Amino acid sequence: MTKDRTKLTPMLQQYMEFKDQHPDKVLLFRMGDFYETFFDDAVTASKILGITLTSRDRKKENAIPLAGFPHHSLKNYLHKLVKAGQKVVICEQVEDPKQAKGIVKRDIVDIVTPGAIIDDQFLENSNDNFLIALYRNNKGLTGFAGVDISTGKFMFTELNQGQVKDEILRIKPVEIIILVHEFAEEIKSFSPEIGEIPVTVIDNLYFDINDSENRLKDFFGVENLEAFRLNEHKTGAIACAMCLEYLKSLKKNEIKHINSLNYYSLDDFLIVDEISRRNLELVKSIRTNSREGTLLSILDKTRTPMGSRLLVERIKYPHLDINVIQHRLNAVAECREKIHITEDIRLILDKIGDLSRIISKIGTLKANPRDLLALSTYLSTSPELKLILEDFENPLFRYLADNLENYSEITNLIETSIQENPPLTITDGSIISDGYNEELDELRSISRQGKGWIAGLQQKEKEKTGIPSLKIGYNKVFGYYLEVTKTHKDKIPEHYIRKQTLVNSERYVSPELKEYESKVLGAEERIKNIEYELFTELRKKIYNKLEWIQKYVQIIAETDFITNLGYIAYHYNYCRPEFSSDGILELKDCRHPVIETLLKEEDFIPNDAELDNTKSLIALITGPNMAGKSTYLRQVGLIAIMAQMGSFVPASSAVLPIFDQVFTRVGASDNLAQGQSTFLVEMLETANILHNATPKSLVLLDEVGRGTSTFDGLSLAWSIVEHIASKNKSKTLFATHYHELTELENVLSCVRNYNVSVKEWNDKMIFMRKIEKGGADQSYGIQVARLAGVPLKVINRAKQILRNLEEHELSPQGLTAQLKKQLSGKSPQRDIFEVFIEKSEEKNEVLDELAEIDVNAITPMEALQKLVELQKKL
Ligand code: ADP
Ligand code: MG
Repeated sequence: MTKDRTKLTPMLQQYMEFKDQHPDKVLLFRMGDFYETFFDDAVTASKILGITLTSRDRKKENAIPLAGFPHHSLKNYLHKLVKAGQKVVICEQVEDPKQAKGIVKRDIVDIVTPGAIIDDQFLENSNDNFLIALYRNNKGLTGFAGVDISTGKFMFTELNQGQVKDEILRIKPVEIIILVHEFAEEIKSFSPEIGEIPVTVIDNLYFDINDSENRLKDFFGVENLEAFRLNEHKTGAIACAMCLEYLKSLKKNEIKHINSLNYYSLDDFLIVDEISRRNLELVKSIRTNSREGTLLSILDKTRTPMGSRLLVERIKYPHLDINVIQHRLNAVAECREKIHITEDIRLILDKIGDLSRIISKIGTLKANPRDLLALSTYLSTSPELKLILEDFENPLFRYLADNLENYSEITNLIETSIQENPPLTITDGSIISDGYNEELDELRSISRQGKGWIAGLQQKEKEKTGIPSLKIGYNKVFGYYLEVTKTHKDKIPEHYIRKQTLVNSERYVSPELKEYESKVLGAEERIKNIEYELFTELRKKIYNKLEWIQKYVQIIAETDFITNLGYIAYHYNYCRPEFSSDGILELKDCRHPVIETLLKEEDFIPNDAELDNTKSLIALITGPNMAGKSTYLRQVGLIAIMAQMGSFVPASSAVLPIFDQVFTRVGASDNLAQGQSTFLVEMLETANILHNATPKSLVLLDEVGRGTSTFDGLSLAWSIVEHIASKNKSKTLFATHYHELTELENVLSCVRNYNVSVKEWNDKMIFMRKIEKGGADQSYGIQVARLAGVPLKVINRAKQILRNLEEHELSPQGLTAQLKKQLSGKSPQRDIFEVFIEKSEEKNEVLDELAEIDVNAITPMEALQKLVELQKKL
């Protein structure tokens, strides 16, 4: 940047004044019809927006980088900048340049950051858009507040240090604000899971934490913060005040739609940590990182964005309180039972779009005429919704119906005042209906008459002058004019005043024309002003009723959420879960809600699941690859979560305890490509479970221990099960291909063996998909290889080697110990045959190469090394 500011032009000095206030943001500086960026901002903007980077004073040594775009592209470019994680300051001209003495006055009119977007064009429908604030007190308690300015949602809690990361991952904020830099380091350490969320440090100079409560009182206009539960949560209160402070610094002064604040406690919810949420694919799929193939994709047949957002929230926060859960289930049950009413309600909901985001636009005084029309359409559904909700009997719907207001006062107002197809702008007229305002009607009639008169003038003048081609036209610079081709120049009457000469014609005005023109244009100018005033007045009226209107949002969201679950339960044939207080879990014919919808040719085979506190605390599930172990584990986990969010579940009957946490871990070696760290990750995750799972938790361990060598992994898996059995006492499903683990049933009284049956038929493996009592007696790896077409020679040799391995691994001087040494530093090892055979199915050339090995001519050691080599090619 230029060192000596005095050398800058006065305009750039003005620019610097604004830039100094916001050094961390991109400043868009309005100059006439353009927004310009300078210096580093220009470089940034040109990169992100793909616009040309030029410079001012190119010849001088202090050339200033410059990049700009036309003002009408603001929305698009603004969106791109914010999406790229930039914070953007918009600096407008605030006086008419024609009237300016010297430099045009400018001012910052808006600041847009990822967490301060209101325009719903730029937001995803079913996603919240939270800005969160974190504040940690000296006892390590963290105040955690989140505000979504696009929906008006404002909430807070207090967390222990260990909960912060997971809560961030759950909320998935788009922006984080903190008070001190230390926190920034901590947040950085949360990556890569958290991704690139912009973090802003609020200036301590302007923000005094001791003033937090007063700020909150001022904001909500209350004397006492008790109703918001801020008195008992002072650390949380500071985080809330930080949110408000930040919004204020972004010039978000009008945020009337943010008028409630909800305290929540993680103690009220079933905790599913981020890894489990991912493994269970609740809202995002592991492979595509999208909604596809997730529980959400199955459950979300909601009709409104509000319902959809509530569903996402409740999938992430299933409840612990059986009363809350039963209350919801009762309502879902009635919806399922009275499916025709449910369908009718869904038809009404179909008419309602994103009411929350329209309310936010009103609350920030940004709503345009079309927003108000949409508001009216949405609100006008309330009487019919009320009527139909009254057809239900359960208390939840009663409550919703009783709280439903009639908004005809507002809808009538909008219907009578706003025209049918209004523009998006509010300064160009054509907004207000005829008959709404007398003065406006009068002006419109003057304008219409004037225009009519002008149109009639063409005929009159033609006749008077005898020029048949005489035309009346209009342009912005000259206004109305009479146009005459040059051939008739001599017939022009004297009182015509020439204004413009074109190639073939001349343009004139006449005093008469001017007089009418000023009438028309004057009226039109006035019309625009009046329409603008009437519109903003109307918007303000609605703004003042915002809280009242907002009640409808809650009702729609809840109605949509419950009826959606009823609809799903009906169409997918789900059953109502029951809850046990003695720890019994008993699922009959349960299914995986997602996979059952994906199978095309085969049918999904339902299975039972039984767990209790004593004899069946831990179920060990063995069986070959692809048998259905992982699917089974996940369906039990998903059913537990669905039940506690208040949904029916895919089973013919279901009894479950209320779980406090659900943990799901998957063995790392399924992910060989990621290299060494995966086994470490697998163990870190397992350690976390062993530290945190309680007797009320559900633990799903899928091939844990797989990420290392066979005997390593086996021993680890063994001791993990022992630990859970004796210490955590959590209900556990453990899927493993280590058939050796089935021994545990004999040693630990709380372990039960199950296996997923397979049958061989005509040299084919038939997967029966049935979970049966008893363990698999062999690991099947080599069988699978045989069925896959690995030559018999290799198979027999493999059996030989396996035997060798099994015998020698346990001896201190054993062969495998040597091998392990040799292989250390390479990718984590597990049963190489397994990986090999699993993957070799797609690579024939590797199979061929394998077939060529004369297994009798080499030592077992060499055979193994060869296999390792081949494995790398897969
Ligand atoms: P494993 O974990 O034992 O290797 P998976 O659970 O990954 O096996 O299942 C492999 C595939 O088998 C799944 O992708 C699914 O298509 C199918 N599958 C699993 N369980 C069932 C079932 N109960 N009914 C029908 N198909 C199933
Ligand atoms: Mg599996």
